[in-house]
Amino acid sequence: MKLIFLGPPGAGKGTQAERIAAAQKIAHISTGDMLRAEMREGTELGLAAKAIIERGELVPDDVIIGMVKNRIQQPDCAGGFLFDGFPRTVAQADALSALCEIDCVINIDVPFARLVDRISGRRMCPGCGAAFHVSNYTAETCDKCGATLYQRDDDQAETVQNRLRVYEAQTQPLIDYYASRQLLTTVDGDQTVDAVTAQIAAALR
Ligand code: AMP
Repeated sequence: MKLIFLGPPGAGKGTQAERIAAAQKIAHISTGDMLRAEMREGTELGLAAKAIIERGELVPDDVIIGMVKNRIQQPDCAGGFLFDGFPRTVAQADALSALCEIDCVINIDVPFARLVDRISGRRMCPGCGAAFHVSNYTAETCDKCGATLYQRDDDQAETVQNRLRVYEAQTQPLIDYYASRQLLTTVDGDQTVDAVTAQIAAALR
C-alpha cells in the first residue's frame, strides 16, 4: 500500500502516520524528519535547509524530489510506504505520479483557528520523534524513550504564521488535485488521537 497524509502543520500527520505505518507494516517517510536528520548531521543539504525551514518556507522541489526518489528505493519501502509532509506542492505531486501509483490520500482536516495553539504547544522527542502537547503532557522527558523534549525552532509563534500561509498557498491546492483523481478521503482531525486513528483505519479498509 502506498499512502499520502495531507494536512496543515499541526494537524497530527506525524502522530497518525507513525501509528498507521506500524499497523500496515509499511515505511513511514517524513520529509521533515529527513531534513531535520540532515540538519543534525550538519550535511551540506542540512545547512542549506536550516535557514529555509526556520523561515517557515519550503525547501526547493528538486531537492525534495531527489531525496524521495532515493528513499523509496530503500529495501524497507518494497512493501509500501506512507508519505507524511510530502508532496507539498503541485510540482512535487506531479513528480511523484511519475515515480509510483498512490493508492489513497488521507486529508487530515483541522480548523485553522486550532492550529496555532496545537503547534506552539507542541514538544518533540529528539530520540524517537514522538510529539507531545503541553496541555496534556507536562513532563520534560519522553515517556517512550526517556530523551529530553524540545520545541522545534519552526514551531515558534513567528514562524508558525508563515508556515500556515505557505500551506494555504502551496499545499492546500493538493486537496482538489487528489480529489479530482478520486484518491482523496478527508477525516476530521479535531478529535482525540485514537478517534482520528480509528477513522483513518476505517477509511483504509
Ligand atoms: P514538517 O516536519 O513536515 O512540518 O516539515 C518541516 C519543514 O521542512 C517544512 O516547514 C519545510 O520547510 C520543510 N519540508 C518538509 N517537507 C517538505 C516538502 N515536501 N517540500 C518542501 N519543504 C519541506
